[in-house]
Amino acid sequence: MMRAVLVLVLAAAIAASGCLRQAPAPERPNTAPPPVALPAAPVAPAPAPALPAKPVDAEDNSWYQPRSAWTTSAVEQDATEPMARPYRITVHHSGEPGDAKAEPKELMRTFERNHKNRGWASIGYHFLITRDGRVFEGRPLRYQGAHAGGDNNIGNIGVCLIGDYEHSQVPKAQREALIDVLDRLTRRYKLSRSSVYGHRNFKTTDCPGRYLMRVVEDFRAGN
Ligand SMILES: [Zn+2]
Repeated sequence: MMRAVLVLVLAAAIAASGCLRQAPAPERPNTAPPPVALPAAPVAPAPAPALPAKPVDAEDNSWYQPRSAWTTSAVEQDATEPMARPYRITVHHSGEPGDAKAEPKELMRTFERNHKNRGWASIGYHFLITRDGRVFEGRPLRYQGAHAGGDNNIGNIGVCLIGDYEHSQVPKAQREALIDVLDRLTRRYKLSRSSVYGHRNFKTTDCPGRYLMRVVEDFRAGN
């Protein structure tokens, strides 16, 4: 009896010492008995019905003056496409130093007229920003824009700053308004800062001017 107890104690000591000389046991020995069926888990209560996805356009739009603030003219729907899910934003300048002095709503109407005369559905940009930092809706975001050339317009939000930024610095109020617009749009569409471009990234052009391009590059770099 004493001998048997001694053998057991010895065996237990070897096992407890973590002896690695023994072959490790398989995780699932072939001889394992079939699993015992457990009683069925209680049925979880049905989850509350999911709310319908919030449409993007239902978000806060109070940061810009809507198209209806400057025109009653309609977008020519046959001349454009519905906007694809935005995945990039392109910044422009209007390039006309005289623009900066024009009354903004009158200027929007002038752009609209000129762009429609080219056969476009409406003004080509989705947003325009005045020198004093006011933001206007141009072409509603549900329509593809006409600002970056052909397929470059697909899923591409066009933002135009009024003024010539090849030859002068971007006024502070306008620069800050642009950064606010870019922050809002990148958040709304879950875009990275590197999804923001200057027009010159798509074609050979001065647009958006070297001074505004610097603002775009700073935004892309996270500054
Ligand atoms: Zn441009």
